[in-house]
Formats: sequence, C-alpha cells, structure tokens
Amino acid sequence: MEKREIVIIGAGPAGMAAAVRLNELGYRDVLVLEKENSAGGVLRQCIHSGFGLTKFGKNYTGPEYRHIYEEMLLNTDVGLMTGATVMEAVSVDTYNCSCSPEERINDSVLNVVVRAQTASGAESFAASAVIIASGCRERGRGALGIAGTRPAGVFTAGTAQGMMNLRNVKVGNRVVIIGSGDIGLIMARRFTLEGSRVICVVEKENVCGGLERNRRECLVDFGIPLLLNTVVCRINGRKRVTSVVIRNEDGAEKEVECDTVIISAGLEPEDSFAEKNTKGMFYCGNALYVHDLVDDVSECGENTAMDVAGFLLAQMKKKDFDSAFSSENIEEMRKKRRDYVAKIRIEKNNTKDEGRYIVCTQCPNGCRIDTQNFTGGKCEKGAVFARDEVENPKRILTSSVRISGSERTVSVRTEEAIPLSQIMQSMKVINTMHVAVPVHTGDVICENFNNLGTRLIATGSEMSMNP
Ligand SMILES: Cc1cc2nc3c(=O)[nH]c(=O)nc-3n(C[C@H](O)[C@H](O)[C@H](O)COP(=O)(O)OP(=O)(O)OC[C@H]3O[C@@H](n4cnc5c(N)ncnc54)[C@H](O)[C@@H]3O)c2cc1C
Ligand code: SF4
Repeated sequence: MEKREIVIIGAGPAGMAAAVRLNELGYRDVLVLEKENSAGGVLRQCIHSGFGLTKFGKNYTGPEYRHIYEEMLLNTDVGLMTGATVMEAVSVDTYNCSCSPEERINDSVLNVVVRAQTASGAESFAASAVIIASGCRERGRGALGIAGTRPAGVFTAGTAQGMMNLRNVKVGNRVVIIGSGDIGLIMARRFTLEGSRVICVVEKENVCGGLERNRRECLVDFGIPLLLNTVVCRINGRKRVTSVVIRNEDGAEKEVECDTVIISAGLEPEDSFAEKNTKGMFYCGNALYVHDLVDDVSECGENTAMDVAGFLLAQMKKKDFDSAFSSENIEEMRKKRRDYVAKIRIEKNNTKDEGRYIVCTQCPNGCRIDTQNFTGGKCEKGAVFARDEVENPKRILTSSVRISGSERTVSVRTEEAIPLSQIMQSMKVINTMHVAVPVHTGDVICENFNNLGTRLIATGSEMSMNP
C-alpha cells in the first residue's frame, strides 16, 4: 500500500484549488486521483461564459477557468493520477489494514485508506488526510417519478451537455426542459444556438430556480417560455419521445409534442464511496454541497485545504481540531446550505418585478437597476449596463468550431460582446468554420469575426484530430 500525506479525490475546480493551496502551504506529498483522462471536472463541458467574476473579476468560459487552474496545478509538486476511479475511502480501522495508528508519514498519523481502480489495476493509498472533491451527480427521471413509457430521447442536462460540447452530437430537435436551475437554463440556450427548438422550460416552483442573469440571457433573449408552477406528468413515445403531458397548478393538463426531454431537476453531492464520520476525511466543492458559482467552489477548496493543514498540525501536537469541512460535520454543513437555499427562494419570490428592473450582470452583486431612471446600482456600471440592455443588448457568443478532418470540435468565444440581434446569424457562420490542430487556449480563430469587429478565440485546446 502506497503511503501519502494527503490524497485528493477529484480534479475538478474544487480539487485543483485545494491542491494548489496545499502546495502554497508547503505540503509536498499531495496526490490527486481523477477518474477522467484530464483535470477540470464539469468545467470541461461548460463552454459558456459566466465563470470567474468574483475570483478574477473577469467573465471566463468554463474551459478558460479550468485552464487557469490547470496551469497553476502543473506548476506545483502535486501528483495528478488520471484514469483513477476511487471505489472506496474508509478509515484505517474499517479497512483493517496493516498500518498501525503509530505508523506515520511526514510526522502525521495515517487515518484513511483510499482504494482506486487505475490504469495499472487496483491500487490502495493510506493517507493522513483525504479531501473528497468528487463533485455531484444529477437526479434522473427515476427521482421525479414521471409516468409513461421509456422511449429514447430522455437525458439529464449534464449528459446532454457533455454529448453536445465534448462529443459534438446532436441531441434532439424539439426539446422540453424540466427544471429552471442554472443548468436547465444554460442548456435551453445551448440547444437554441445549435438550431434545436426549445418549446418550453417547465418549473414546478413559483420562481425561476437559476440566477437572474441566466434567466435573462438564456430564456428571455431567445423568447423561450418558462412555465412556473407546472410539472411534466407523463412522457409518451415508443422508440423515441413523441410528446409530454404537462400539468399546471390548477390541474389542467396539456400535451406538448417534442422528441427530447431534458431533466435538470437537481444535483446531489457524490460521496457514495466515502465512509461517514471518518477522522482525517474532509470535503470541498460540490461534494460538500452544490454551489451555484465555480468561484465559490474554488474558495471552498482553498478553505478546506487550510483546515486540512490545521488538522495535520494539531495531530502532530496531539491536539483536537474542529473543522466545518470535516466528515464529522458534513451533515450540519449540508443542512445550513439547504436552509440558505430555501431562504433565497423566498426572497426571490418576494422581489418579482414585472419587467421594470434589470439585474446588472457585470459582477456578482447583481444590483437591481430601475429601467425608468437607471438607478439602483452600487456603481456607475449599473446604469450603463441597464441602458445598453434596453437600447442595444450585447452578448459574448460562446460555441464550438469543427476541427478540420474530424468530427471533433474546439470551444470558442467572441473576444467582445456582439449585438444580441447578430447571435443567431453568427452561429450560422460558426457552423461553417473549421480549424486545424493544434489549437491552444487563446489562439485567434478569426480576426474580424462575421465583420463584427471582434476576434473569435479558442477557449479550449485540441492537440490532435483523434480523441
Ligand atoms: C451545466 C452547468 C453550468 C454551470 N454554469 C456555471 C456558471 O455559469 N458559472 C459558474 O460559476 N458556475 C457554473 N457551474 C458550476 C460549476 O461548474 C461547478 O460548481 C463546479 O464545476 C463544481 O466543481 P467541483 O470540483 O466541486 O466538481 P466537478 O467539477 O464535478 O469535479 C469533480 C471531479 O471529481 C471527479 N470524480 C468524481 N468521482 C470520482 C471518483 N470516484 N474517483 C476519482 N475522481 C472522481 C470527476 O471526474 C470530476 O473531475 C455550472 C455547472 C454546470 C453543471
Ligand atoms: S452596478 Fe452592482 S452589479 Fe453592476 S457592476 Fe456595479 S456593483 Fe456590480
């Protein structure tokens, strides 16, 4: 069994941030285990912008945000083992391994054993501290209990996003989306940009679940209806979905023709492999609880790393150390988060504004600007933003461009925001473009994209034509 001071499970933004911070704190024996072939987690498939506003004051796409942390990680002594799926993380006692409590690594007692399936077979690691940074999993159709048949064409939002953005697969033509959380909203826009028709987004609650900026930029921009207080109660179709039945709060039912149903009905922390109440085990990112913003996920990774350092230090001095991120306190943290989310939902419901206000999306403060007198912003950017929104709304266009001679794509964005009115026509141009490999993040794909006076730049990297 290999001995390590700290093992991190998952190389998404949370795991990468924790690893980088531990390295800054002087820990040199840190190993990150990642089941995919590269680091980045969900960010790899989130080709839209909206990442990094708090952390970096910039509006990055998911792959760009990932690139920043990947570079930081590569500049550390942290070990990254990809293709390593963790099957179990348990206390040394539960594992009943040969490590005695007195056995130490770098003066730290070994507390946790991690078993992983790696490229070279099953491997076990004994560590003083383990950070669970394995993200979350999506709730599927089973969790919603929707009646009807079991045809093809029903996908969770994350699965559909991965198919479209990582594998360039067309998922469907006429789409109904269940759930108005951020992922559902972002997928509504993505399907629309790719030429599919999103018939509606159905939400069982009385308010939109996602961020205001996403509601505006993903639904309002494209005229996609959001049906509140409504559920999908039946899915019809033999081989492929042919329709769904939706039911509103009055009990009235209506059949809606579609060939695709996207389920975006919530996420659950993914820690099924981890023993509960285990000393030396810590959580961060979406494995702790589901965060809205990646910036908060990164901060959470850094905070957990600080607590792990505190724990290891206390252990050396044979002292106790209490951490909000520890396995022992995890349920309390999750309960606090549930209470907070419920409070925000109530507040959101109380501030419905019938279109008079625009939420400034220039920073996470999200000030509500009155469109009658352009007041309400905490800084002068608010009035400028709201005026532009009313008179000439502009958006950064994010999409992907086909790699020459391959079915694969590389993610791209316009460097500057372009008029909203030009977005759909610009997508047609993007769909005719090809780019030769290798392509690196930041490479200019086109100097004067669609004669709009902005460059089209790569937000991801592709080194070869093959996966
Ligand atoms: C569709 C979508 C849109 C989003 N939009 C935005 C946005 O606009 N702005 C924003 O700020 N945030 C956004 N987010 C949120 C943000 O991307 C996530 O909160 C963030 O990626 C979570 O980071 P994480 O590291 O906790 O988890 P993940 O990114 O899920 O990373 C977890 C990692 O752990 C690995 N892993 C899991 N299980 C194991 C195992 N058993 N063994 C080894 N490795 C394992 C996974 O492969 C993965 O690499 C969005 C998320 C989604 C899904
Ligand atoms: S007006 Fe508010 S939301 Fe907009 S940039 Fe200023 S502080 Fe941020």
